[in-house]
Amino acid sequence: MEQVLLLNITYEPLKIINWKKAITLLCLGKVEVIEEYSRDIHSVSFTIRLPSVVRLLRMVKRPKSPIKFSRQNIYARDRYNCQYCGSQFNTEELTYDHILPKSRGGKTEWENIVTCCVNCNRKKGGRTPKEATMTLVRKPVRPSWIPALRITIGYRDVPESWRDYLYWNVELVE
Ligand SMILES: [Zn+2]
Repeated sequence: MEQVLLLNITYEPLKIINWKKAITLLCLGKVEVIEEYSRDIHSVSFTIRLPSVVRLLRMVKRPKSPIKFSRQNIYARDRYNCQYCGSQFNTEELTYDHILPKSRGGKTEWENIVTCCVNCNRKKGGRTPKEATMTLVRKPVRPSWIPALRITIGYRDVPESWRDYLYWNVELVE
């Protein structure tokens, strides 16, 4: 509970820091508090809410590299939502779908693969979304960057307040 997620000014997660470091950065005016835990920190001179997510007020630049094409990253891109029915599922209940089926020449690439729940996958079968009268929640794109931070833990073990900011960063332990 004492860990704080540090975001770049762009809201991209950079690293996990301890709360003391977060308070120091806050006192120096380098970060703003985005999310808090429901716990207070007391010192001689002040009492503040323990921050859980802080954001840098100045840009930190880092080199970019292309993101790995993997099942986990497809799920992460689509935020664990089935791209047909729009519901969120656990990893075990998800699969991925070739929008244009492989049997029709559909490629296994970012723009033709979406996260799909088992039911929707079964319903769609070897058809195109149009033939199956199923609509995509959003058009899939190739992500252009890779996260600075990789967290190898179960998505459910991540503090609730971090989830909106950890997009590509959680590498699921299966
Ligand atoms: Zn679905």
